[in-house]
Amino acid sequence: MTDKYDVVIIGSGPAGYVCAIRAAQLGLKTVCIEKYKNVAGKGVNGGTCLNEGCIPSKALLDSSMKFHDAKTSLVHHGITARSVSVDIEQMIGRKDDIVKKLTSGIASLFKANGVAALYGTGKLLAGKKVEYTDAKGKTKVIEAENVVLATGSVPIDIPVAPIDDKLIIDSKAALDLTKVPKRLGIIGAGVIGLELGSVWNRLGSEVVLLEALDVFLAIMDKQIAKDASKIFAKQGLDIRLGCRVTGSEIKRGKVNVTYQSSAGKEQQETFDKLIVCVGRQPSTENLLAEDCGVNLDERGSIFVDDYCATNAPGVWAIGDLVRGPMLAHKGSEEGVMVAERIAGQLTEMNYDIIPNVVYTHPEIASVGRNEEELKQAGEPYNVGMFPFVASGRALAADDTDGLVKILAHAETDRILGAHIIGPSAAELVQQVAIAMEFGSSAEDVGMMVFAHPSMSEAVHEAALAVNGHAIHVANRRKRKAKK
Ligand code: FAD
Ligand code: NAD
Repeated sequence: MTDKYDVVIIGSGPAGYVCAIRAAQLGLKTVCIEKYKNVAGKGVNGGTCLNEGCIPSKALLDSSMKFHDAKTSLVHHGITARSVSVDIEQMIGRKDDIVKKLTSGIASLFKANGVAALYGTGKLLAGKKVEYTDAKGKTKVIEAENVVLATGSVPIDIPVAPIDDKLIIDSKAALDLTKVPKRLGIIGAGVIGLELGSVWNRLGSEVVLLEALDVFLAIMDKQIAKDASKIFAKQGLDIRLGCRVTGSEIKRGKVNVTYQSSAGKEQQETFDKLIVCVGRQPSTENLLAEDCGVNLDERGSIFVDDYCATNAPGVWAIGDLVRGPMLAHKGSEEGVMVAERIAGQLTEMNYDIIPNVVYTHPEIASVGRNEEELKQAGEPYNVGMFPFVASGRALAADDTDGLVKILAHAETDRILGAHIIGPSAAELVQQVAIAMEFGSSAEDVGMMVFAHPSMSEAVHEAALAVNGHAIHVANRRKRKAKK
C-alpha cells in the first residue's frame, strides 16, 4: 500500500521543520521524515542546528562566558568571586537539557499543526515518490504532489587528520568534551573554530588555530576582521594563518600535528585534542535514486533556481543542501518560501539581506555588502562609524571593544551594508537589516529616536556619521570611495 501526501519533506532541521509547519498551516497534507537519533537512540527533530550546532554551541558559549567573567572581569565591578571553578558535567548537562526542550518542542509543534512525523531515512525516487525506511529496516513508498529535500550538511573530512572520535574530533564531539583539554588544536579558523575555540579557551585550554588561508575571516569586512584578530589574540587565541596541515599522528594519548607554516617551514605541535572544522558539505549520501531526475551543481549541492525548485518538476531543495550561506535562518526562510509557493503563493526571498553572525565575544555581525564588494562593483558609498568606547551603555557594561560601521550609497544614501564587532552585534545588525529591507537611507535611521542608554545608539550614531552628523563622536570628513 502507498501513502499519498501533498508534501513530503526529507530532513527536519531548521529548513525542513519550518517548511513542514508552514505547509501544514496552509492546509497541505504534510509528512516530515527524519533519520537523526539522540544518544538514547530515539528519533528527534531539529537537525544540526538544534542537536549539534547553533543551539548547543551558544549554550556553551554563554556558560563559558559566565565562568570567564566570574574569574576575570567581575573584579573590575568591585565583585570578588573566590575559588571559581567549573563543573563540565553540569555545563554539558544544561546544554543537553536545552537541546531536549527544543527538539521535543518541534515534535509538539508538528502535532499542533497536523504535520505527520516519521523517523527513519528518506530517499527520492523517480516520479515524486519517496522510499521511507524505518528504524527496523522496513521500507515503504510514499507518493507526493511535492517533495522537499532538506537533508542539510555534514562536516568535511580531511585525510591528513582523520576523525577517530577520541583525540581527533569534529564539531559535534567538541560540544560534548567531559574534560577541559590542556592544549587544544583546531584546524580551520572559520566560524566553528572561533566559536568552539572561544568556549574552550575561556574554560582554560591553551588554544591554537591552524588556518590554511593567509587572510583572517576572509568573508568579513577587512577592518572588522583586523580588529577581531587583535581582540582574539588578546584573549589568548593563538591563530596561525597560512598553515597547511600535512599530517597527524596519535602517540601516547596525544595528537602530533605536522604543518607547513606561511614561511614554508615544516612545524610540529602536540595537542591533547584536535578539532577539525574546515567547512561543511551538502548531505546527499543515499538521498537520490539514479533516475530521480535531480541535478547537482559543481560543488555537490542540489541545483535549484531562485525559488528552490530543482530541475525535476515538483521536487524542491532548501537549506544547507543548496547554494548560498550555510545558515539556519537562510534555510528556514527558504522553507517558508517553498511551502507558500507549493500552496500557490508567489513568495520570494531576499538573498541580499541575510545577516551573518559569529558568536565570539565580542560578536561579529554583518549584513549586505562590505567595502571591498562595493569597490569591486564600482558603487560610490559613504561610511559612518561609531566605536563602542564612546557608548555610555557599553561603558556601563564594561564592554567597549568594537564598532558599528554603516555603508550607504553616496548619491541616494540608501543603506547598502552594516558591519559590526561589539556587544550584542547579533541583535544590532538586525536593526540595520530591517532598515535595508524597507529601503531606508542612513538619514532615515538617523532621524529615528533611539532609547538611551542602549547599545542600539551605536547604530543610530553610525547612521548619522554616514552624512557627517554624528553627535557623540568626531565626524570623519564625508568621503566618497574611489571608483
Ligand atoms: P540540518 O540542520 O543539517 O538538518 C538536516 C536534517 O536532515 C538532519 O537532522 C539529518 O539527520 C536529516 N537527514 C539527512 N539525510 C536524511 C535522509 N536521507 N532521510 C531523513 N533525514 C535525513 N547557523 C546559524 O545560522 N547560526 C549559528 O549560530 C550556527 N551555529 C552552528 C554551530 C555549529 C557547531 C554548526 C555545526 C553549525 C552551526 N550553524 C549555525 C549552521 C546551521 O546548523 C545549519 O546551517 C543548519 O542546521 C542547516 O539547516 P538544514 O535544515 O538545511 O540542515
Ligand atoms: P568555515 O568555512 O567557516 O571555516 C573553515 C575554515 O577552515 C576556513 O577558514 C578555511 O580556510 C579553513 N580550512 C579549510 N581547509 C583547511 C585545511 N586543510 N587546513 C586548515 N584550514 C582549512 O567552516 P566551519 O567553521 O567548519 O563552519 C561550517 C559552516 O557552518 C559555516 O560556513 C557556517 O555556514 C556554519 N556555521 C555558522 C555559524 C554561525 O552562524 N554563527 C556557526 C558555526 C557554523
